[in-house]
Amino acid sequence: MGSGAPPAQIPTSFGHELRACLRCRLVKTYDQFRTNGCENCPFLKMDEDHEHVADCTTPNFTGIISVMDPSRSWAARWLRIGRFAPGCYTLAVSEELPEEMKNICEEERVTYVPPKRV
Ligand SMILES: [Zn+2]
Repeated sequence: MGSGAPPAQIPTSFGHELRACLRCRLVKTYDQFRTNGCENCPFLKMDEDHEHVADCTTPNFTGIISVMDPSRSWAARWLRIGRFAPGCYTLAVSEELPEEMKNICEEERVTYVPPKRV
């Protein structure tokens, strides 16, 4: 039996519509977030309320890596995504989740680590 989460979708294209989840930094296309939500953050309900896609993801991110085995990858440990689904992740996002979405994280008792202010 495999361990860990099932793989997340990988982006179907690498064009301008790519977006990164502000909580877990998973990178997918806008359409993928809208259709399937975020595999790591189902509680953000991006597939149910499409405005949440705009609120919880950003087109502004730096770098992208693919992590196929988060539990064993040094990069995943460094990114603190060791327990997230395998997929494509960005190294850094510069925006924070809106207050409303932070509250959802708190209610769901999930960790949210805001980006460091420069
Ligand atoms: Zn996410």
